[in-house]
Amino acid sequence: MHSLKNWRNSLRTGKRPGGKHPCRKASFPVQKNVQYILQQMTPDNKPIPMADMNHLTGLSGLSADSITGLLDTAAGFKQTLRSPNASFSPTLKNRRIALVFFENSTRTRFSFEIAARNLGAGTLGFSAASSSVSKGETLSDTIKNLEAMQVDAFVLRHPSSGSAKLISRITPKPVINAGDGSNEHPTQALLDMFTLREHFGSLKGLKVTIIGDVLHSRVARSNIYGLLRAGAEVGLCGPVTLIPPDAEKLGVRLFTDLDRAIAWADTAIVLRLQLERASGTYLPSLEEYSRHYGLTDERLERTGKHLLVLHPGPINREIEISNHVADRIQPPGYSKSMLLEQVTNGIAIRMAVLETLLGGTP
Ligand code: ASP
Ligand code: ASP
Repeated sequence: MHSLKNWRNSLRTGKRPGGKHPCRKASFPVQKNVQYILQQMTPDNKPIPMADMNHLTGLSGLSADSITGLLDTAAGFKQTLRSPNASFSPTLKNRRIALVFFENSTRTRFSFEIAARNLGAGTLGFSAASSSVSKGETLSDTIKNLEAMQVDAFVLRHPSSGSAKLISRITPKPVINAGDGSNEHPTQALLDMFTLREHFGSLKGLKVTIIGDVLHSRVARSNIYGLLRAGAEVGLCGPVTLIPPDAEKLGVRLFTDLDRAIAWADTAIVLRLQLERASGTYLPSLEEYSRHYGLTDERLERTGKHLLVLHPGPINREIEISNHVADRIQPPGYSKSMLLEQVTNGIAIRMAVLETLLGGTP
């Protein structure tokens, strides 16, 4: 009954195929992470004002003013970053920031490191493989031990959803979530919002479509919370199997047809297929995914839409985004890639977050 044909049809019709994928013997995998994020789908009702911000574990509870404040602070830093001999006042001199990464990262880790150094802070690198975690130490013991070494803040990346919030409850030091499982990646969403605001002038009323593997994406989740709070409209587009079942409750539009999503939107955030989080098992094949949801020149030409394109990286070239669309810095006609501009903006945003949480405290 759950034939491969039903799965293929689900890409076109938007109907959930139900049951397990016909090519898989094991039952359909529902990760703990995904269950957690489904429980977290409704943003908190009481947004946190900037003055009360001690940690940045996600955007779900942040007020519109706090978000605007962070973006404004980042805008000041970006201006200096653009100048030829950029130099910043060392407002975080003598501070030690632990970069606690239990998952791989290039952009986030380096840009936190650069951001901290720009403000005069020192960083301590940590990777799970070379630490006592490989001997069985728990996350909270690791954090408590680092705290005992007078670390001033933690930047945490961890595969478990909710880990940043958990840590923020056991340490008085600021905790910054650099990506927790499928839950949130707040600094990525802030840099996406910064990039959009810089380009369009305002986020109010902007139509943003997020394309692809929303189910597993912490970037999507943080962007949904942040963009809605900032007054933007959000559309989600992807195969039904990769859109969380309760997504509509968040006040977003749902699309299963990419052409329609593009026609509706002013800009697109393309997501990476999170193959390490089993997204491949939610699809008939990567080729079919790419045919239905890959952002290519042909598709943009067909819809006749000049679209600003963002992607958090790393990209799966020719799967969710074609080389042409990903690499087009100057728009010769229809799309404009912001991928590298996003990376630069990531430094300004992370400086703003560090300065907001640590600046002015002893
Ligand atoms: N996962 C991407 C990278 O490794 C971006 C990030 O770190 O958030 O660069
Ligand atoms: N770099 C982002 C993250 O760490 C997005 C991705 O990995 O696809 O969540």
